[in-house]
Amino acid sequence: MKGFNYFAPSSMDECLKLLDSMKGRARILAGGTDLMVRLKHDMVREDNIIDITRLDGMQGIIRERGYVHIAPLATHSEVLDSYICDKLPVLKAACALVGSPQIRNRGTIGGNVMNASPAGDTIPALFVHGAALKLKSADGERLVPIGDFYTGPGKTVMKSNEMLVDISVPEAGGGEKGFFKKLGQRNALAISIVNVAVLLKVNQPGRVIEKASVALGAAGPTVIRCTQAEELMTGSALDGPDMLKEIARSIRESASPISDVRASAGYRAEMSASLFCEGMYELGVI
Ligand SMILES: Cc1cc2nc3c(=O)[nH]c(=O)nc-3n(C[C@H](O)[C@H](O)[C@H](O)COP(=O)(O)OP(=O)(O)OC[C@H]3O[C@@H](n4cnc5c(N)ncnc54)[C@H](O)[C@@H]3O)c2cc1C
Repeated sequence: MKGFNYFAPSSMDECLKLLDSMKGRARILAGGTDLMVRLKHDMVREDNIIDITRLDGMQGIIRERGYVHIAPLATHSEVLDSYICDKLPVLKAACALVGSPQIRNRGTIGGNVMNASPAGDTIPALFVHGAALKLKSADGERLVPIGDFYTGPGKTVMKSNEMLVDISVPEAGGGEKGFFKKLGQRNALAISIVNVAVLLKVNQPGRVIEKASVALGAAGPTVIRCTQAEELMTGSALDGPDMLKEIARSIRESASPISDVRASAGYRAEMSASLFCEGMYELGVI
């Protein structure tokens, strides 16, 4: 592992000034579950590491005017333990399947989002919940919808002098329910071979789907939103296997995965449709 300068700013101002002065030659450290592994194996090389764990306002989860605000340093375990996050059922389901208890206790939601891995488990969940990311720099702040944030594996629209300071997520309302399903090589400590996040608003008496959001992880260079499947579902009652088959086919076609050591592209596409069907049956909407 190459040596680096370590900074632990105690205020946001100091942190943003540091980031600004380093002009892209610095990387932020949160829980370190991803970054420390990459540094150790020389998968990334950085001159400067900025530890943000001492900054005020970067911890906790609050509820405000119909939104849940997740501070970047909130861990997967904190989301799981938070009654506020009961309003974010798909995100909770995703956090439950991250790594192991140790990784969930240490790894942060901000780190998972900023890692920008196509297989990051919280990202498809945040897509279907309609999350927005607040980025801050010495020049000011801006809000970016998560759907506009990723440009490729490990790549985002964040500038080198910016950092993530808040994740805002609209609370799921009455009649909204969903699921997160993940296929890994084993039940724990497994990177997603493919994952599926679904959030539906169902008119219970008629079982008509009023709104549908479907996102796939590890099925393309960034998370894929399955717009055709969403259109097929919206306004209809899923009244049998034929309809589900048609939606599953459109999900399979939305996927554009790669083949790698974990799985072939064809298997990933097939499994994204299977996970979707399994989740829909378990949700009781079919
Ligand atoms: C054994 C093991 C199992 C794992 N299992 C899973 C799994 O099942 N699912 C999954 O999705 N991930 C998994 N991971 C990956 C990792 O644990 C998660 O992505 C975790 O949430 C990362 O959070 P962190 O706080 O540790 O991030 P860090 O390692 O501290 O940072 C990750 C990246 O995000 C950047 N970053 C962090 N915070 C900010 C911020 N506020 N602003 C700007 N940039 C920031 C860092 O610069 C770095 O590039 C696993 C990792 C390990 C080692």
